[in-house]
Amino acid sequence: MKCPACSTQLSHLDVNGVEVDVCKGGCGGVWFDTHEFKKFDEPFELTGESLLEIETDPGIEVDRSKRNCPRCDNITMMRRFFSTKREVEIDECGSCAGVWLDTGELAHLRSLFDSEEDKKAAAKEIFADLFGPQLEGLVKEREESKKNARRLANMFKFICPSYYLSDQQDWGAF
Ligand SMILES: [Zn+2]
Ligand SMILES: [Zn+2]
Repeated sequence: MKCPACSTQLSHLDVNGVEVDVCKGGCGGVWFDTHEFKKFDEPFELTGESLLEIETDPGIEVDRSKRNCPRCDNITMMRRFFSTKREVEIDECGSCAGVWLDTGELAHLRSLFDSEEDKKAAAKEIFADLFGPQLEGLVKEREESKKNARRLANMFKFICPSYYLSDQQDWGAF
């Protein structure tokens, strides 16, 4: 499979039992097949923060327009989750239900904080900004959206546990 954002060949990776395809040496994005994404119906105890440490090419050109699913032929993915302030994007395929995550901005945010203390201080703001309103909006919709929001939240917790703060979501995603 080719990266939907920069066309680099994706590499298969097992992260604590979650099988993903990563854009190693390219943009650093991560692809979750639908059955892997479904694993996040429940919170994952083991974490995949190493996904934010994938070697990337800083000079790579990332396509920010609508992307085609790396798994399906000629299917344009839907951008379901987008924080303009943080530029974190998730693209979902309406056909195979796989999920593409741009990790670039998450990795960048992580690199800004040297100490654990700084990280903690900034985490609350980042978490609220990234995961708050968008996920909360989804929860207010249908039951299926609620499930999806919970999955996304668990996926984020898996990828960047240092941004995760317990008891911040009164709607119960965590
Ligand atoms: Zn890429
Ligand atoms: Zn697809």
